[in-house]
Amino acid sequence: MFGLKKDWSLDVLPRYFTLEDYEGGVARWCPGCGDHGVLAAVQRICRDNQLPPEKTVCVSGIGCSSRFPHYMKTYGFHGLHGRAMPVACGVKARRPDLNVWVATGDGDCCSIGAGHWIHAVRYNMDMVAMLFDNNIYGLTKMQTSPTTKPGFKTNTHPFGAILPQLNPTAATLGFTNVSFVARTIDWNPVHLHATLEAAFEHKGFSFVHIQQRCPQYTGKIYEDLQQDPSKVLYLKHEDGITLDPEVERLFPNQAVHDPRDHNQALALANREDMLPIGILLRDPTRPLYEDFTTTGLQMSAEERLEGLNRELDRFAI
Ligand code: SF4
Repeated sequence: MFGLKKDWSLDVLPRYFTLEDYEGGVARWCPGCGDHGVLAAVQRICRDNQLPPEKTVCVSGIGCSSRFPHYMKTYGFHGLHGRAMPVACGVKARRPDLNVWVATGDGDCCSIGAGHWIHAVRYNMDMVAMLFDNNIYGLTKMQTSPTTKPGFKTNTHPFGAILPQLNPTAATLGFTNVSFVARTIDWNPVHLHATLEAAFEHKGFSFVHIQQRCPQYTGKIYEDLQQDPSKVLYLKHEDGITLDPEVERLFPNQAVHDPRDHNQALALANREDMLPIGILLRDPTRPLYEDFTTTGLQMSAEERLEGLNRELDRFAI
């Protein structure tokens, strides 16, 4: 007889979340857009860590990648241009129990949102900030962004972008109180997933710079890296990212990098001969702003009133 034995049993968690529990609306990104891979990686991480959807928030600014919260079946806040990080910090300041993911782009983060970017890094609140870097303003149809390569023709610079491109990885490593910086590529889903997982596990502000393909407008910018993997430098370390040997073999150039070595991280981030990927910095000793903003959150209304009255009494005459 086929079938289950009478005494067969299965232990199922009272609530077990499947991928479906995190899948929101159908993603409307272009076919082949790197954003699809990032979305799939985040949904898997949520499932693997069994994050309750009602305890998970995706926050974004404006841009193609900022459609992210619509495609997650969690709480979400599709904010204003450049304002993803202050909204995310606000969420974390009062609800430290929530898992916060930030989706931002090279225009959203590095241009209009640059001031907020600096301070979000300095606040070091526990969240994952994903910078989708396609080197262009895609949603508004191909204007020069801070990371556009010089010479690349855009609608705002038809003869080619003029200024040197901003390096978000190196810039973040220079901000005060930085605690986690990583770089990854969307066309290697295993590395992408491992990087985002490590970022999620880090307690603090985890900045992940994702080289994201935009077949619509900047289709060829990462082509040389894809066709010649020796132009990518795979960083590994016991405190960094370690992949299966089958995946590691895809990277002919590898280097050991200790994520505690801030100076070497900066040197790697600035390399122009090849693209280093992996965890550049991980410093769990940095102070977290939410440790201060959440003081007293657990007090009852009566206790708060009593404390307020006590403070005001100090000024009584
Ligand atoms: Fe993706 Fe580019 Fe299309 Fe935007 S324009 S959805 S970034 S491929």
